[in-house]
Amino acid sequence: MENFFNTLGSSNPTPIVEQYDDLKNNYQKIFIEAAESIRAAVNKFKPENPCAGCVVKNCKIEKKDVFTEYPSDCAYRDWQKQVLTFLAGDYKQKLKNTYKMIMEKKSEYSCAGCGNCCRLAVSEYSYNQLKQRAMKGDKFSKDFVSVFVPYENEEDAKAANPEYFKLLSSMVEDQRVYYYYCPKLSENKCSDYENRPDICKDFPHNPLKLLSSTCSYNAWRNEVAHQAMLLKAKTDIIDFYKQKLS
Ligand code: SF4
Ligand code: SF4
Repeated sequence: MENFFNTLGSSNPTPIVEQYDDLKNNYQKIFIEAAESIRAAVNKFKPENPCAGCVVKNCKIEKKDVFTEYPSDCAYRDWQKQVLTFLAGDYKQKLKNTYKMIMEKKSEYSCAGCGNCCRLAVSEYSYNQLKQRAMKGDKFSKDFVSVFVPYENEEDAKAANPEYFKLLSSMVEDQRVYYYYCPKLSENKCSDYENRPDICKDFPHNPLKLLSSTCSYNAWRNEVAHQAMLLKAKTDIIDFYKQKLS
């Protein structure tokens, strides 16, 4: 991962699609790293040989894992409860702090005004689906349809920014997606800057978001990508623990 970050700042940078391929490929490694670190934290709560004074008769459990199904009065059940409390409390707070730190880092960077995020946006939802979601109260969809309109066809979307289009389409694989643009963009400037909605003010709202190569927030993404992926992996793993132990 370290080498990957170093190449981004070099005079001969890796093409942007390959950079994202590297990110995707590294996620598996990061996921394993996250799983191991959570497992180590969880095992700290594991009781040492509670079976000595156990009242459960004919217990045949050999593998004392956190996900094992234990009888109702087994001492390992307390371990599972402690793990749940820990993951929902202290551990979750730690993840929240990391997220806060990642987002605070963003304020060290600013928009270079290339206009590419206004010129080409992608959504898994069609325009009608977005409008329906907006009517049901989804804030993001409401903001989105307040400024973006759909491209008539993919060729027009591609012509708007071929490199960014290639990046976006390479990431969605077989999934159907829809391309949009904002008619308020005029010569790379927002013609309604004071009234732009939160989705414009907050862009990019996620450090793992796909960005145009001209976006100045690539530097932020490069700085925090490893932490952001680790955070995503840990959040997904915690959800898995909750499902299995609740
Ligand atoms: S409202 Fe302005 S900032 Fe938002 S997408 Fe349109 S042009 Fe860009
Ligand atoms: S793509 Fe990035 S640099 Fe370009 S206008 Fe959008 S936020 Fe600013």
